[in-house]
Amino acid sequence: MFGCTGCHTSKPEDIVNTGASLAADVLAETQQDVSGEEVSGADGTVVLSKELRNIPEFSGEIDFTYVYDTDAQSDLGQNSSQVYTKDGCYSMEYAAAMNIDACFLYYTDAASDEKVLVCSKSNCTHRDETCDACFMMEEYPMPILEQYHGALYEVKLDGDYLNIYRISFDGAVRQKSCTLMRLNIEEKVEDDQSVSAFYPELKIHRGYVYFSDYYAGCNTCSLYRVKLDSQEEPEVLFTMTDHSPFLYQIRPYGRYVNFETANADKSGMNFAGGMYTYDTEDGTISHLSDQIIHGYTIQDSFLYYIDMNGGLYRKDLQTGTITPFGEDALEIGQNDDKQLFFHEGHLVVALTDWETRLCTQYVLDEEGRILSTLEGYEYESYIPEGQSKEDVDTLLHPYT
Ligand SMILES: [Zn+2]
Repeated sequence: MFGCTGCHTSKPEDIVNTGASLAADVLAETQQDVSGEEVSGADGTVVLSKELRNIPEFSGEIDFTYVYDTDAQSDLGQNSSQVYTKDGCYSMEYAAAMNIDACFLYYTDAASDEKVLVCSKSNCTHRDETCDACFMMEEYPMPILEQYHGALYEVKLDGDYLNIYRISFDGAVRQKSCTLMRLNIEEKVEDDQSVSAFYPELKIHRGYVYFSDYYAGCNTCSLYRVKLDSQEEPEVLFTMTDHSPFLYQIRPYGRYVNFETANADKSGMNFAGGMYTYDTEDGTISHLSDQIIHGYTIQDSFLYYIDMNGGLYRKDLQTGTITPFGEDALEIGQNDDKQLFFHEGHLVVALTDWETRLCTQYVLDEEGRILSTLEGYEYESYIPEGQSKEDVDTLLHPYT
C-alpha cells in the first residue's frame, strides 16, 4: 500500500555530518540575523534552530532509573519490533515466506529458547488474518512493539488516523487505547505508483505515548505526548520550526524523556543540533549535548554516546565533564549500525555491519577496557550459508 513502511526517508545519522557542533562564538556572531531567513555561520556551519539557542544546560535531579512495569525499553532503540518481559521476548516478524503481507507476533521463552506464535485459537492454521498472531500490514503498518503494565502496544491505522492499540499478552484481545495523529502521506507526482507515508517515532513511558512527527522536507516538527487509554488530544511538548527539522531518537529514562534534534541547511547535507531532555515532572526542557549522536544510553548519572566521527564518549551529567571512553582497540566504523546498552552492569557497544549484518559486541568494564568481544547475528536468517548457529556467538541483549 505504501512505498515506505515503518521508516522515514532519511535521518541525519544516514548522512555524513560536516561539522554540526557549533562553537558558542559562531552562534553569537550569527544570532543577530534572526529575520527567519536561513543563515550560515561564519565558517559555513549551519546555524542552530532558534528554538534551541537558549535552552539551559541540564541541571536537574539525577533520576534515570528503569522500572520494568511502566518504563520504555529505551536501549532497544527506536521503533523496536521486540520487547522483553521477565520470562522471555515478544517479537513482531514479517511473514516473508507465507505469501501474505503481514507480520506475526511470536513469543520466545528465555529459559527453554522455545519460540511460539502468540495464538491460542483452536484449529487455527496461523496463516491468515483470522489468526490472533497475524497483523496485516495494511492495518498495522508499523511493525513495532512496546509494552506497558502487562500488555503489548502496537500502532494501528484506522482510516487516516494512527491509533495505539493494547494487545493482551496471549494475543486474544486488541483494544484501542488512544489516538496519535493523522497519517502524513506524500504522493509523488512524477511517479504515480509511489506513495510515501511518514510514521512517527514513539516510546511508551509512565502512562504516556511520546512521539514526534518529522518527515523529510517538513518545516516544523514537534515532540508530543498523549495519555494511554484516553480520548485526550496529544499535548505539544516542544516544537521546532526551521528548514527540515528532525526530532528523533526519543528515549525516556526515569523521569526524563530524551531526544535529539537537528536542522539542515538547504543542501540537506549539513546539520546543527544536539540532544535535549524533557523533564516529565516540571515540564522543562534542558540541554544534554551539542553533538548529533549516533547512539546513546544513560546509566546512573552518565550519558554514553557515539558521535558522528565514531568516537565513544561519556558525559557526567552532574558535572558536565566529557571524557573519551573505551580503549583504542574499539573500532567503530562509519558503515555500522551503532547501539549502546547495559548488560549486567557493563556497557555493551554493538556494531552491526550494514551489508553482512554481522554484529560485533564489545563488553566494556567501568574504565572502558574491553572485557570480551562477541560476533553473531541478530536473526538466525542472517547467518550466511555454510555457517550454523554453533559457529557464531550468542549476542547479548538489554533487559535480559
Ligand atoms: Zn493462529
